[in-house]
Amino acid sequence: RLKLLEDVHWRAEPTFPAAIAGEIAPITKPHDPAAVIGTRRDATAEEVEAAFTRAAAIQPGWDALGGEARALLLEEAADLFEAHAAEFLSLCQREAGKTLLDSVLELREAVDFLRYYAQGARQQFGAPTILPGPTGEENSLALHGRGVFATISPWNFPLAIFIGMASAALAAGNTVIAKPAEQTPLIAALAVKLCHEAGIPPEALQLLPGAGVVGQMITADPRLAGVAFTGSTDTARAINRALANRDGPIATLIAETGGQNAMIVDSSALPEQVVRDVLASSFQSAGQRCSALRVLYLQDDIVGPMLAMIRGGFEALHVGDPADLATDVGPVIDEDAKALLEAHVADCTARGLPVTRLPLPPETAKGCFVAPTIVELGSIRDLTREHFGPILHIVRFKAGELAQVVDDINAVGYGLTLGLHSRIAETRRFVQAHARVGNFYVNRNQIGAVVESQPFGGEGLSGTGPKAGGPHYLARFATERVMT
Ligand code: ADP
Repeated sequence: RLKLLEDVHWRAEPTFPAAIAGEIAPITKPHDPAAVIGTRRDATAEEVEAAFTRAAAIQPGWDALGGEARALLLEEAADLFEAHAAEFLSLCQREAGKTLLDSVLELREAVDFLRYYAQGARQQFGAPTILPGPTGEENSLALHGRGVFATISPWNFPLAIFIGMASAALAAGNTVIAKPAEQTPLIAALAVKLCHEAGIPPEALQLLPGAGVVGQMITADPRLAGVAFTGSTDTARAINRALANRDGPIATLIAETGGQNAMIVDSSALPEQVVRDVLASSFQSAGQRCSALRVLYLQDDIVGPMLAMIRGGFEALHVGDPADLATDVGPVIDEDAKALLEAHVADCTARGLPVTRLPLPPETAKGCFVAPTIVELGSIRDLTREHFGPILHIVRFKAGELAQVVDDINAVGYGLTLGLHSRIAETRRFVQAHARVGNFYVNRNQIGAVVESQPFGGEGLSGTGPKAGGPHYLARFATERVMT
């Protein structure tokens, strides 16, 4: 059992002197809400205003630095993140309730984002591209930052998504006002502190902690050139409306939102792969990944043995303290999240659906734990919202119904991840051709982004694209200028 830096007491403060104190909120451990590990002081309207003034003033200079200089600064930040791994892993466990495995993956992804976008800054924001033209004419195209960008991030990847969006905006020559999720400002505060230590000017990356109301103040400012957002579909819509209602430049919105992710398993699938991948995709991170499997479609002629094996693995999951190395499933983020998930399970039970739940060990009683749950459903269409936690829904289908299954999955309107376990090439081609989904996983687990090799993001209700960690991401943060 690792206990790292338990005595460190953090405060997430806006990164500039406070004029008027905003709301002060305690930050607690999801697995032990009585344990206060730090405080969050919310940014005030005056501080938001001051942050924009500072960010707008320095942005032309930050842009003029050029891609190579910005790359060096982001790479220095990546080195500092690695050097502070122990603090980050400890904070991921304590503030976000992540297991050690998830914490390590999170830090790895954060560092990968910093290095990948640094490389992008170097390649795409260096010398202008020479364009063809008549002899004697010099035509070129250069990418520049758009201006002041806001990043509004969620608690489920409090480091990787937070720094991924911020580093992309910085790499492209924007200055950044970064609002972390209200549940996880401490990890963000450490990340920003290290970026400043790396040499990124404090005016170029400013932290504005707070709840949604701080996000509303930020997105109302006419100086905003764009927003990179990850969170719920409803909040993305609210931000879109806020941006449309302001004066000032037409702002870009890059949004990565919810999902209703399915996996289709036909009778040619290998059971041992299916069990491994279903459990990892549904229950790792307590199901709190954008990519997590929510609805498993099992072909009816294998449903008995396949379900028996899945249940076997399910019953072996260890739920508990994320600092315990034996833990597979930690807590959910907070009491509100727990209440929503429990209400859904209660509703399924009331509707007479077959529900299986893991008994929770006694030591989880005081924390925000939700028992891993399997529910049998008639169709993915029966779900009206995303259930962001350790709940797997099972739907049976018959051979010959594959087209209907894909139609049903498309009909929910999300388009984030889809998994398929099948050894039939024709099935794979059919699903790939017809599924409207951003990330399609074949004969493997569906489990989020791998920077550079598996860029991540959805379509439809799941977001605007482009994919984080992919080759087209940085350009969306930039404006193109042509010289002829
Ligand atoms: P989740 O369901 O993951 O908590 P949210 O969409 O509620 O997703 O939150 C994601 C981020 O959006 C958080 O940082 C939150 O504070 C912020 N947020 C919530 N409401 C608004 C809003 N109206 N305007 C801007 N940001 C908001």
